[in-house]
Amino acid sequence: MKPFAYTRVTDVPAALAALHDPGVRLLGGGTNLLDLMKNGVEQPAHLVDVTRLPLDVIEERGGGLRIGATARNSDVANHPIVRRRYPVLSQALVAGASPQLRNMATVGGNLMQRTRCDYFYDPTYTECNKRVPGSGCAALLGHHRMHAILGTSAACIATHPSDMAVALAALDAVVRVTGPAGERVIPIGDFHRLPGDTPQLDTNLRGDELILAVDLPPLAVARRSHYLKVRDRSSYAFALVSVAAALDVDGAGVIRDARLALGGVAHKPWRVPAAEQRLVGQRPGEAAWRMAADAALAGAQPRRDNAFKVELARRSIARALATVGATA
Ligand SMILES: Cc1cc2nc3c(=O)[nH]c(=O)nc-3n(C[C@H](O)[C@H](O)[C@H](O)COP(=O)(O)OP(=O)(O)OC[C@H]3O[C@@H](n4cnc5c(N)ncnc54)[C@H](O)[C@@H]3O)c2cc1C
Ligand code: SF4
Repeated sequence: MKPFAYTRVTDVPAALAALHDPGVRLLGGGTNLLDLMKNGVEQPAHLVDVTRLPLDVIEERGGGLRIGATARNSDVANHPIVRRRYPVLSQALVAGASPQLRNMATVGGNLMQRTRCDYFYDPTYTECNKRVPGSGCAALLGHHRMHAILGTSAACIATHPSDMAVALAALDAVVRVTGPAGERVIPIGDFHRLPGDTPQLDTNLRGDELILAVDLPPLAVARRSHYLKVRDRSSYAFALVSVAAALDVDGAGVIRDARLALGGVAHKPWRVPAAEQRLVGQRPGEAAWRMAADAALAGAQPRRDNAFKVELARRSIARALATVGATA
């Protein structure tokens, strides 16, 4: 690993001042960044540790919930308000990584974690547009069983690996960030990017900006929500497909609100408003679940080895909706 300087900051202005230097990388729990440094994909000259910033709050605000950027994944997953009012978020976090990793990983780092495409992680592969823009994409003809089926481009077919971010997409979260121009909020749907012809850019966070918090709105539909993750083994594996689903059913047994987002299928958490609209006004049941699943997968463009994900996603959506529908 290339030698680097290490600094620990305790206030936000100091973190922002450090970000003026393009050789700086912010360090959260280090569970992704340090792996990338060990294999040479990231070579920062200076790590600035943000875990001592006063940003680890998890508190009610405006009827919703503010979750600070340095809150640990375990603390968010186990928080009583998250478990009671946003169960899909708690379940998504617990479905990720391992207890040890979740004890280290931060909310900011989780949002910013990079794809798990093998070609991206191994610099001996020369073709990876995300690692070396303009070099090509080895996954197009190579190993792409885990890769995206929605929103891909000719430049990159990688998926976003975060489970937490899929739940946040279903919950209408906003990401609160700060930089030299002051604070701004980025709706979660605009935070991560599709690859297009600039797959080296995962997010719309600028290089001189710091994530402060994630805000969840008060959301009645979130109380009946569920996260289903389908993977090659039952723990310590990234999603082949995942589903964040929420339903609100009125007293007459009709769906009045729905949320649906998919993971493991695209370069960003894949919210599917068309499927949500199909659900509203329906009665919970197999016919409604299938209609939503078909709408969600309508634009899928699988490749040679990941075509199975289309049917897997359809069935996972139906199962997740049936699970949450049974409690509604
Ligand atoms: C073996 C293994 C299995 C895993 N399995 C899963 C899984 O199943 N599901 C899943 O979702 N994840 C999984 N993960 C990924 C894990 O969730 C991430 O590594 C973790 O969330 C990253 O958080 P961190 O705080 O450690 O980030 P770091 O590694 O410290 O940082 C990651 C990135 O975030 C940036 N960053 C950190 N904080 C901020 C901030 N406040 N503002 C701006 N940028 C910031 C850093 O500069 C860096 O670029 C796994 C990881 C490992 C190693
Ligand atoms: S899918 Fe994306 S990350 Fe993977 S090799 Fe292609 S360009 Fe690189």
